[in-house]
Amino acid sequence: MPALLSIPDLDWRNGALFSRAHDDCYTPALATPAGDGHADTFAATRDFRTTRRHLTAELGFGTGLAFLSAWADFRATAPADAQLDWVSVESAPLDAATIERALAPSTAPLLSDLLSELLRALPPRIRGIHRRAFDGGRVRLTLLYGDVLELLPVTDFIADAWQLDGFAPDRNPEMWSAEALAQVAAHARVGTTIAGRFAPPPVLESLKSLGFQVTAANASRAPASSPASNAGAAHPPLHGTLTRTPEKRAFRQLPRWFSMPHPATAADTLQPLAIPTAIVVGAGLAGASAARALAERGIAVTVIDAGCAAGRASAAPRAVLAPYLASWQSPQTRVVAQAFMLARAVMERVGAPLNPCGLLHPVNSDDEWGYEQSIAEWGWPTELLRLIGADEATRVAGTPLSNSTNPEGAIFVRDAATTRPAETVRALLAHPAITLHEHAPVARLRHTDVGWHVDAESGRTFDANIVVIATAGIPAAALPDMPEALASDALPSIPFNATRGQLSTLAFDDAFAGASAVPFTVVSANGFAMPPVDGALCAGATYERERLTTGPTPHDDAVNLGHIERLLPALATCTPNRRGAWAGIRTSVNDHCPVVGPVIADAQFRESFARLPHGPFAAAWPDAPLLPGLFVTLAHGSRGTSTVFLAAELIADMVCGTPRCITDDLLPAVLPQRFLVRELRVGTRET
Ligand SMILES: Cc1cc2nc3c(=O)[nH]c(=O)nc-3n(C[C@H](O)[C@H](O)[C@H](O)COP(=O)(O)OP(=O)(O)OC[C@H]3O[C@@H](n4cnc5c(N)ncnc54)[C@H](O)[C@@H]3O)c2cc1C
Repeated sequence: MPALLSIPDLDWRNGALFSRAHDDCYTPALATPAGDGHADTFAATRDFRTTRRHLTAELGFGTGLAFLSAWADFRATAPADAQLDWVSVESAPLDAATIERALAPSTAPLLSDLLSELLRALPPRIRGIHRRAFDGGRVRLTLLYGDVLELLPVTDFIADAWQLDGFAPDRNPEMWSAEALAQVAAHARVGTTIAGRFAPPPVLESLKSLGFQVTAANASRAPASSPASNAGAAHPPLHGTLTRTPEKRAFRQLPRWFSMPHPATAADTLQPLAIPTAIVVGAGLAGASAARALAERGIAVTVIDAGCAAGRASAAPRAVLAPYLASWQSPQTRVVAQAFMLARAVMERVGAPLNPCGLLHPVNSDDEWGYEQSIAEWGWPTELLRLIGADEATRVAGTPLSNSTNPEGAIFVRDAATTRPAETVRALLAHPAITLHEHAPVARLRHTDVGWHVDAESGRTFDANIVVIATAGIPAAALPDMPEALASDALPSIPFNATRGQLSTLAFDDAFAGASAVPFTVVSANGFAMPPVDGALCAGATYERERLTTGPTPHDDAVNLGHIERLLPALATCTPNRRGAWAGIRTSVNDHCPVVGPVIADAQFRESFARLPHGPFAAAWPDAPLLPGLFVTLAHGSRGTSTVFLAAELIADMVCGTPRCITDDLLPAVLPQRFLVRELRVGTRET
C-alpha cells in the first residue's frame, strides 16, 4: 500500500470547493444562513459545558470545518480542565492552501485564528496516524490518513459522539457502506450519539441493525443544499444514540500475548475516568516527554531523577531529528518515521529549540542499499524526501560535498532538524502540573492496594496511581542504579545494549575565513556534521560497545574529524578557534525500536504462554497479564529525540483511554513483551 495518499481532484464552483470524484461540495455548512460554519448541523448535539472529557469521531476531515467549529465551541464553553479529542478519517487530505482558500473568505473571525493554527500544524499526506495538539495540549486532533476500512479496524478509541458529515451517500457510497457503519458502531459504546447531514433509508436501516436508535430529525433543520449540488437535499438530518453494547469483532484483533486493555472499552460507560496521579522515574527526554503528555491530559505528575534533569544521554549538546533512511520499510522504520513527524510538531508547540535545517545523505552507485528503490518505497511527497543531483546537493548544503562520497547526489530530507536535548527537556518539564525532584535515586518500587509506592534512596517516599519508568534501560554495568526489584521482577527478558558515543564541537569566530565551507544542512552518512548554532558546529558520533566510560577522548575526536574530512573536505582544512567534546551512553535493543508500553508480569506471562511454540491455535489464550499502572519508555537508542514523543503519547493514550496514536499492526514493534514472545517461540533468549 503506497504511503503517499492521492491528491483529490478538485473543482471550484461559485467560490465553493467541490470534489470532482464525488461531485459534491466540501463545505455545505458555509451555506447555512449564518454562513460562518459555526451553525453546523452538529452544534446542537454537543454540550461541552458539562463534560470533562469528550471524544468526537468523524468520517472525512475535508476542510476541517467541523473540527474547527467544535474546537471554537469547546474554547468558548468548556471548563478549564476539560479535554477534547477529535478523531477524523481522511483518505484524500486537502493541502493547507486549498483549505485556506475554501474557508478563509467566509470564516467568522472566531474561527480564523484556529484555522491558522490548524494549517500550521497540518501533517503531510502520508498514510497512517498523525496526532496534533492545540490549546496547551487539551485539544487533540488524531487524523487517520487512509481508508476507513483500512484504519478504523486497527485504531483503538471509543467515541462519545460520531459525526457522519462526509459527501452524500449516493456520491460516496464506500463511506456509508454497511462495513463502514459497522466500524462506527465498533468504536462506540452505549450512549454514544450519532449525527449526520443525511439519513437515507439504507443508512437508517444499517444503523438500526447495529443497535443505534435513530431518528431523521425535523426537516426544517435540514442543511441548506450545497451551492451547485442537491446532494442530500432530499433527506432530513440524522440523529441517534447507540442503545446496545456494540459488536467488537469488527476490530482486527491483536494476538492475545499483545492484547492491551483500553480503559474506555473496559468501562464501556459514560463515566469519566478518575484522574490519576503519576510518577515518572527519569528526567531525560523520555521521562520529560511522558510527564508532559500526562500533564497535558490533566494528570498531576511527579518526576524523580537520580541526578539532575537531562544529566545522562539527554545531556548531548546537539542531536539530529531524522527518520531512518533504511533500504526497506519495516514496522521499525515506520515507527521511527511516524515518531519523527510527531516530534517536530510537539517540539514547536512546547517551545523546544529547533533548527529546521534539513538533512543530506550523500549516496554513490557503490551503495548497496538501493536508495532509489528505498525512496520509492517510502513514498513520501517529493518535497519532503527525494534524491537530488550533486549540483543541487551542493546548493542545498551551501558547500561542496565530497566528490568521493557524493558523485551521485544525495537524499534530501527536508524536515530533518537539530535540537539541544537538555533545553528540550527543560521546555517539556515547564508545565504547572509537573513537579521535579532531582538527586533522588529511586531504590524501590512497590505495588499497593491503591497504586504504586516509590522509595527514593534519600528516604523520601512517593505514591501515585501510575508509574512510568524512563531510566533508559535496566542495570548493566553502565546503569547500576535501576531499582533492583523492577529489574528482576518485571523486565528480565529485555536484552538492553549500551553503546558509548562521543560528539565533537568546533567553534568558529564571526570573522571565520572559511564560512563558505560550513554546511546549511546536516550532512550524514556513517557519521554526521550538523550546521552551526551560535557559531559552534557539531560532528559525530562514535559507536563503541566495549568501553562504557563517559569521559571524552582524543581518539574519538579524531574519529569525528575523520567524518568531517570524508563528508565536507573544505571544512576539514579550516582551523576552529575552540574545540569541545561530549560523550554519553545510548541504550538500545537489537531491533532498534524503543521499548514502550505497559509492563507484563513476567512469571505469569511465561506460564500463560508456555505453549506458544506450538502455534497460535494451540490453546485458548488468556489476555497478557500486566502489572497494573506500570509503564516503561526505554531504549530510545540513537533516535531518542524523535521516538520519545510518540512513546509519550502512546503511554498517555493507554493511561487515559484517549485514541491510541499507533495502529495495532505497529504495537508489537514497541511493546515490552516482544522479546519474551520471541524467547518463548524459539526457546532461547536474545542477548
Ligand atoms: C553521543 C550520542 C549522540 C546522540 N545523538 C543523537 C541524535 O543525533 N539524535 C537522536 O535522536 N538521538 C541521539 N542520541 C540519543 C539520545 O540522546 C537518547 O536516545 C535520549 O537522550 C534518551 O533519553 P532517555 O530519557 O531515554 O535517557 P536518559 O537521558 O539517559 O535519561 C534517563 C534518566 O534516568 C535517570 N535514572 C536512571 N536510574 C534512575 C533511578 N534509579 N532513579 C531515578 N532516576 C534514574 C538518569 O539519571 C537519567 O537522567 C545520542 C546519544 C549519544 C550518547
